Amino acid sequence: PTDLNRLADEFLRLSYHGLRAKNKSFNAGFKTHLDQNIGKVDIAPEEIGRVLLNLYNNAFYSINQKKQQLNGTFEPEVVVTTSLGKDMVEISVKDNGLGIPQNILDKIYQPFFTTKPTGEGTGLGLSLSYDIITKGHGGGMRVETEEGKGAEFIIQLPVSS
Ligand code: ADP
Ligand code: MG
Repeated sequence: PTDLNRLADEFLRLSYHGLRAKNKSFNAGFKTHLDQNIGKVDIAPEEIGRVLLNLYNNAFYSINQKKQQLNGTFEPEVVVTTSLGKDMVEISVKDNGLGIPQNILDKIYQPFFTTKPTGEGTGLGLSLSYDIITKGHGGGMRVETEEGKGAEFIIQLPVSS
């Protein structure tokens, strides 16, 4: 049994500080809304940690790209929310970055699909994440996005009552 709130929070810090260590000028806001009713969840923490790390890195990457395109007023932010539903917990990772264009939305879960320059992305993150969540944990994963406004990845994991 894993404290999912703690995992979500720890990996968020890991992602943010990892990116800052590589790029001193990188900075962004981030915050969490963690539902304290979640309790401990029966998951493989290192696998879900990998999924979260990739979602966070993708989110920070996207807001950083947007920040470089705009100047001034944009306030980049990643918001992580956990909540308890019926027989499942939900984790949402939301950014106000570039969003995902409609014409690539059906490709993002394909292995090796990336829009990042060589060396910056392998295109394996989401495909691996999808397998970990669905096949590995019997859960689900979906995205809501609007081009130019941001993206929200939502993961649902079953909990045994
Ligand atoms: P990688 O990060 O190595 O490119 P991923 O499988 O993690 O591979 O993501 C695949 C692609 O999906 C990214 O290259 C990007 O085009 C798109 N993507 C994923 N997350 C986001 C996001 N939060 N905002 C915008 N685009 C995203
Ligand atoms: Mg990635």
